Amino acid sequence: MEKTGAARGVSGEGEAITLQGDRLSVPHRPIIPFIEGDGIGVDIWPAARRVLDAAVEKAYGRSRAIVWQEVLAGEKAVARLGAGQHLPEETLAALRQYRVSIKGPLTTPVGGGIRSLNVTIRKKLDLYACVRPVRWFPGVPAPVKHPEKLDVVIFRENTEDVYAGIEWASGTPEAGRVAKFLEGEMGVRLEPDSAIGIKPMSPRNSKRLVRRAIRYALDKKLSSVTLVHKGNIMKFTEGGFRDWGYEVARDEFPHETVTEISRGEAPVIIKDRIADSMFQQILLRPDEYSILATPNLNGDYLSDACAAQVGGLGMAPGANIGDGIGVFEATHGSAPKYAGKDVSNPSSLILSGVMMLEFMGWDEAAQIILKAMAATFEQKTVTYDLARLMPDARQLNCSEFAGAVVKNL
Ligand code: NAD
Repeated sequence: MEKTGAARGVSGEGEAITLQGDRLSVPHRPIIPFIEGDGIGVDIWPAARRVLDAAVEKAYGRSRAIVWQEVLAGEKAVARLGAGQHLPEETLAALRQYRVSIKGPLTTPVGGGIRSLNVTIRKKLDLYACVRPVRWFPGVPAPVKHPEKLDVVIFRENTEDVYAGIEWASGTPEAGRVAKFLEGEMGVRLEPDSAIGIKPMSPRNSKRLVRRAIRYALDKKLSSVTLVHKGNIMKFTEGGFRDWGYEVARDEFPHETVTEISRGEAPVIIKDRIADSMFQQILLRPDEYSILATPNLNGDYLSDACAAQVGGLGMAPGANIGDGIGVFEATHGSAPKYAGKDVSNPSSLILSGVMMLEFMGWDEAAQIILKAMAATFEQKTVTYDLARLMPDARQLNCSEFAGAVVKNL
């Protein structure tokens, strides 16, 4: 596997990030694995890496640098290692060992074919919180009148729900056996050729997600955590998520949290909203929300809807976080029709890199990138996705946009 010194003048081997108690210990030359990704990964990853390296050098001179280590996954892994090698064990081992990593998007076929590599990575490494901040940068075109009012961080449960992929195809003996069990043992009648999926949601996994969301609210001094669920219909799964969320707040943060109906004052209000109403709220009253804690599928939908409101998927970063481990990735997919054309917006992956730097405690470099990106948007130099909505913009390709951000660092 390739290892490269990141900043100019840096040489020698890097060191692994380690865990001291429950905190990361980050050396000055951390080894960080990266997956280039399928589709537009070939465009947006080099652009993001260039910005990250330049920002680290700007913030710390030669005293710190990222030592990137490429690990293979997706189409590149199959091309190099052969059929069936979409996600080599070696790749999972590196992501686990080095604790902090970043990835481009990986393609998943709809219907048959391989299961999602993204979901597999999240499950295998127990990255239970998918964290997606959504905020607007001045100058970025948006479809709503006041995009600045939306400034939320979505904490999406990442390991269970219907998203866990426990399902059987229509007409298979497996689906037949499950249907027979349901009818014989539970008195549930289904269409005989039904495809069947299972929606597991547990107190443990829901609670650790909400716990993390509340801790984040306290750390960042954010005033509310809203539990988003469809518990009026799915009473035991989604309704359970809501109840377990309130339990964590009550049992573990009794002095730090209140609910909308309890009396008293505390830094964080815990609220809950039915999922469909939440989609209205982000449009009609976005400034009443700061953290949204959601089950897996609701969080997936809500992330894209929120992203669209502030400029689209090209602007949407993300992180998959577990205890002492994080894999950072854009919210969007591999957008195959733009692959290799050097036109896509790398902001999503650059901003995922900003989250990664913050996770490592390299806040100075993170801040420098945020300011440079804001300046680049204000100069109206943007990629095609934003330029088509900005009549007076100068359209840049993906690599040129990265160059413009680097210039503004
Ligand atoms: P997508 O997110 O790849 O693209 C949808 C559309 O969004 C694109 O056609 C493009 O118009 C726009 N877009 C996305 N990223 C952009 C960027 N950086 N700059 C400008 N415009 C951008 O969604 P899809 O087409 O439904 O999925 C394609 C593949 O990606 C599928 O195989 C899917 O499973 C996979 N996927 C992977 C991830 C991941 O790696 N975490 C996430 C979502 C989808």
